[in-house]
Amino acid sequence: MAAPVTSGHLTPNPLAPGDLSWGGLQGPPDTPPEPKQLPELIRLKRDGDRLSEGDIRGFVRAVVDGSAQGVQIGAMLMAIRLRGMDLEETVALTQALAKSGEQLEWPEAWRQQLVDKHSTGGVGDKVSLVLAPALAACGCKVPMISGRGLGHTGGTLDKLESIPGFTVIQSPEQMQSLLEQVGCCIVGQSKKLVPADGILYEARDVTATVDSLPLITASILSKKVVESLSTLLVDVKFGAAALFPSQAEARELAGALVGVGAGLGLQVAAALTAMDNPLGRSVGHTLEVEEALLCMDGAGPPDLRDLVTRLGGTLLWLSEQAEDAAEGAARVATTLDDGSARDRFERMLATQGVDPWLARALCSGTPAQRRQLLPRAREQEELLAPADGTVELIRALPLARVLHELGAGRSRAGEPLRPAVGAELLVGVGQKLRRGTPWLRVHLDAPALSGPQRRALQGALVLSDRAPFAAPSPFAELILPPTDTQQ
Ligand code: URA
Repeated sequence: MAAPVTSGHLTPNPLAPGDLSWGGLQGPPDTPPEPKQLPELIRLKRDGDRLSEGDIRGFVRAVVDGSAQGVQIGAMLMAIRLRGMDLEETVALTQALAKSGEQLEWPEAWRQQLVDKHSTGGVGDKVSLVLAPALAACGCKVPMISGRGLGHTGGTLDKLESIPGFTVIQSPEQMQSLLEQVGCCIVGQSKKLVPADGILYEARDVTATVDSLPLITASILSKKVVESLSTLLVDVKFGAAALFPSQAEARELAGALVGVGAGLGLQVAAALTAMDNPLGRSVGHTLEVEEALLCMDGAGPPDLRDLVTRLGGTLLWLSEQAEDAAEGAARVATTLDDGSARDRFERMLATQGVDPWLARALCSGTPAQRRQLLPRAREQEELLAPADGTVELIRALPLARVLHELGAGRSRAGEPLRPAVGAELLVGVGQKLRRGTPWLRVHLDAPALSGPQRRALQGALVLSDRAPFAAPSPFAELILPPTDTQQ
């Protein structure tokens, strides 16, 4: 048995993924040991010991039944963040979270079509808003259980809730009806669906325990195990604004997601994608909804379209609904160009609580009309380029931190957000910029940016004297699920 070690990483485990059958983790069948008290469980993990499956189930039970105090949850999360968990502990945590609520079940005829994509978190990442309806238009069933903003990264649920009326809480029966009528839904955790992940997720957001490999793995996979999928693709971000900056760390997280997924009988692949620049040209809830709609008009920023079509194409291929990823990508692109993805999005909005008139107006309107229909910030402030140059990089992390401070993110669990706070990038990477030209438009509810905020944002713009260039695709690497013979 591998001993848990070090800083929030998943400890290597000698078990092959195929050895992680649920039966193999159940422990001795005879007298069950006395459940340990929470302080003892916390002490064990604090001191670097491994937790048994029973220990982990006991902790998760206490989280859900309310007997664990907030401070105990925070202490355990920090102990896990600092000491890590091995593969078996991570599988046990994933299952305990998944079993804290109901398992979704679908008609047998849907088996192959059930797919989903999840991101480890980025800045400006509105891919799910476009990809779920695009995949539905390709004939898939996408029962997406998504997340809220975590740390400096944005959350799909928060973005959708910026559309008046949109409701992320849907019962399993409502989800089934959405899949029948629309082909996709985007919902949140609830008392019925992975409630333990909902509680731990909120606690991680405000206790500096977001960037923990086993906690991320268990959080993502618990939601996806519940969805009863054929195939999951995780977009694992790396770069300065990702939860893990280096590609090597992201690869380690991808390996854990693929391995733990295989141990739980879920086909998981991972795409490693760059997260140094924001994705697309808009950051912030309503602004990202507008940009997602633009992508579903067959327009919008090329990096967003590129990622949507590549991730979607890979999913269609892995779930055996396309010959290869390129054919799959072309089919996804067609749904963006012919309006069929936008049509599914409109139907999803109307079925998930948005007034059908508003859903129609948003989906059929021009960009200017859409802006009138969504919440708007009180003020706008433009920043000007300090010099001539070519845009080398627009650092997503300082941008996200300033927007968080302006109300786009939470500092306390459950805190309301300011949906219209955000920023529009007025230039793209690789473009020439003249001194004095506006490069960023900030939307804010405060009267003006503070001096430090303005300086932090200006520091996000990196110019060079290179010739203009085409920005590279953020898609870097694909990690495939193990084949049957590898398991
Ligand atoms: N998405 C999740 O659902 N959980 C995480 O921990 C990170 C991203």
